[in-house]
Amino acid sequence: MPVRHTCDTRRCDNRPVLTLSGATAIVVDDASTRTGDLHLGPDGVSGPPLAGDVLDVSGCVVTPGLVNAHHHLLQSAFRTLPGTRGVPMAAWLQRMSEAYTAEGVDPALVRAAARVGVAESLLDGVTTVADHHLTWPSGADTVAMARATADAARSLGIRLAFVRGAARDDPEEAASSAAAIIEALVPHGGVTADGMLQVAVGPAGVHSDTEATFRLMGEVASRYGVRRRTQANEQVDVDIAAERYGRRPLDLLDEWGWLAPDVTLAHLCGVTEAETARLAASGITATHAPGCDLPMGWGVAPVGRLLDAGVAVGLGTSGGGSNDAGHLLADARLAMQVSPLAGRGLAAAEALTMATSGSARGLGRPELGHLRPGAAADACVWDVSGVHDAGVADPVAGLLWANPGRRPRHVIVAGRLVVRDYALVDADERDVVAELASRLDG
Ligand SMILES: [Zn+2]
Repeated sequence: MPVRHTCDTRRCDNRPVLTLSGATAIVVDDASTRTGDLHLGPDGVSGPPLAGDVLDVSGCVVTPGLVNAHHHLLQSAFRTLPGTRGVPMAAWLQRMSEAYTAEGVDPALVRAAARVGVAESLLDGVTTVADHHLTWPSGADTVAMARATADAARSLGIRLAFVRGAARDDPEEAASSAAAIIEALVPHGGVTADGMLQVAVGPAGVHSDTEATFRLMGEVASRYGVRRRTQANEQVDVDIAAERYGRRPLDLLDEWGWLAPDVTLAHLCGVTEAETARLAASGITATHAPGCDLPMGWGVAPVGRLLDAGVAVGLGTSGGGSNDAGHLLADARLAMQVSPLAGRGLAAAEALTMATSGSARGLGRPELGHLRPGAAADACVWDVSGVHDAGVADPVAGLLWANPGRRPRHVIVAGRLVVRDYALVDADERDVVAELASRLDG
């Protein structure tokens, strides 16, 4: 699929507009699919350009770039660790923390792990990733760690939402570090002007953090106008809330000011009917993470019920400590496949919506997750011309039902190709692997 130049004059100020031509289908958003050309420029999805490149995408389906609403990029360096599968959460946490201590979590490791996680994300069609970073060794330069993640993302061309998390951190320290990271990385609001970097805050959950941490981080969020994210109703969360407080996690979050429209809750396994209504009324958004919840034995979130109640639900992979792959489309497929075990089954289009605009809603990013005019020009080109898709009646449904492990041929972020013919544009994949390997061996 060669790029053909229609004109050799380039726009003076900026990159030329990239036109995707001849697609089998373009998924514009959850309500519309079309054919024809799609024009992707640095300023977003646009009308026909005066000049630019044309990429022939015949035999391909184009979708909005995927938005992974919940990852822990550091864990990309700690996958398939012995002692982390089929064990209680307390044992899992202990094992992961031993591994972090043995390696020493510093900006170099954070950068190398993030480069791996980001490269993998892009190669799998993820154009925006939310990294809920929870590991802050005492005395660490937390701004340098956040900056290392931001640099890793920028070096490969993905959009990053960096979430300054906390997990049993000192409440005051967590809050002042969050403020320092915001001041350093996004001083003029929660998102940089180019839309490539966002910062949010959020404790790991009521199972690990106290009311003080939630309140102080909430104050930082309101002072700087950044989004809040946390995790709720994983099995351990429900158990610890009952043991420690005799309450349900959502009662505590409500009391601590964290059931509100600027909050996204990841996991939400085991929510009752009454809690579903309460979540919908609160205006929170949700992130479903079945690729983590299933192996951890936390159950299946009742996604159909949450959607039917009006909750915006996004999709996340969570990190390599529980889900060894950052392949969001594979997890959209998994979400669809397991959904009948927790209520009504999800349609393929609903799973794709979760992985695009659903996740973008939770990040407060209305320009992401769709391809309507004016959208940020983030898109994936999925080749459906091979044997894995032969006989598929609906190529969009086939994106999820057929061809497990499918990867996009091309990925575009902000109108620029960042994956071309299944390879990273800005780095050699092997160098990304080598950087982490040498850090882990060193
Ligand atoms: Zn998680």
